[in-house]
Amino acid sequence: MPRMHLHDHSAGGRRPFRDFMKQRTLLLLSLGLAALLSGCAAPTTHRTKVDDALIEIEARKQREIAFDTMLSGRQRLTAIAHPLLKAAAPLCGEETHLSLGAVFTNKYLFAEEFRDIAVVKLGVGEPLQILQVIGGSAAQRAGLMAGDIIVSLNGQSVPTGEDALKRFADILEESLKEGAPARIRVVRGDDRLSFQATPERICSYAVMLGPGDEVNAYADGQRIVIAGGMLRFARSDNELALVVAHELAHNAMGHIKAKMQNYMLGSLLDILAAAAGVNTQGVFGNMAAQAYSQEFEAEADYVGLYIMARAGLETAGAANFWRRMAAIHPGSIGRNHAATHPATAERFLAIEKTVAEIENKKAAGLPLEPRYKADKKPGGDGP
Ligand SMILES: [Zn+2]
Repeated sequence: MPRMHLHDHSAGGRRPFRDFMKQRTLLLLSLGLAALLSGCAAPTTHRTKVDDALIEIEARKQREIAFDTMLSGRQRLTAIAHPLLKAAAPLCGEETHLSLGAVFTNKYLFAEEFRDIAVVKLGVGEPLQILQVIGGSAAQRAGLMAGDIIVSLNGQSVPTGEDALKRFADILEESLKEGAPARIRVVRGDDRLSFQATPERICSYAVMLGPGDEVNAYADGQRIVIAGGMLRFARSDNELALVVAHELAHNAMGHIKAKMQNYMLGSLLDILAAAAGVNTQGVFGNMAAQAYSQEFEAEADYVGLYIMARAGLETAGAANFWRRMAAIHPGSIGRNHAATHPATAERFLAIEKTVAEIENKKAAGLPLEPRYKADKKPGGDGP
């Protein structure tokens, strides 16, 4: 039953009357709806009664399936992204850090709805433990395993509890040294073990499984977000790697920063126009933000393929993958990857040409470095 605010003093004049009319209309509508529902056709067979306790058990089973799906999706993405982040490190400038190639967790790092499941399935508790050892990483070569509980790093004891991971990240940051092996003590079952792992430099971008089910991916300068739909759309790990490498290239090549700068520059014109009494409604800012959009996409394709090749991954299927994306998601402007990554014939031909360029370099034993404009090589004299 809606409450009527007939004594509302906050608004003067005709407002209380209008509110009254609104409430009355609502009331009439809901009475109408009730009448309508009672006249609606109902199913004619009897509804199967189920036990409340069984509903509870089934609900738990379904949450467990959701948990498994989320976890395996994240782990797949992490395993695919890590070698790319490592291969791209020379392109990421200052935005790199040393990594052991393991994912650490404790029970607090799981959302509350999944925490009890994580405790049972993974045995997580207060201390940090290894959730995933990434294939080909320093941690794997050292012999660390998923489930190992981390006791100390280079003699420093590892924090436990709610903010353990954040504090451990600080310890990693100050304790890991380029080229120097780190000493890690763990508990595995009844054993206390010690390992030496030499950390590796990787790009610092977080690669995350995004919410929602869209076939989509984006980069924002710091993160690479892959939506759930893309995980299913990509037919193989290699195809998913193509998407991650493309987004990684956007970040590494500073496209998001460049777009922001262009936007600010354009906005300056809007501000100047406003000072002269003309309201441009931000049109210069928006135009400038779109400047070089196609060129940035082409560069993300180009550099992304080099990142793939440097990680030792096959690039031959690249053009076909993006073509398939374009065919399945032709028109939904602004909502999916295909829309923000336009599917022009030129794009596919450029990708195929890049693949050939990389193959030639491989055959000739040349370093797999993208070709830069004369004055733009990273670390060079260019601006
Ligand atoms: Zn892109």
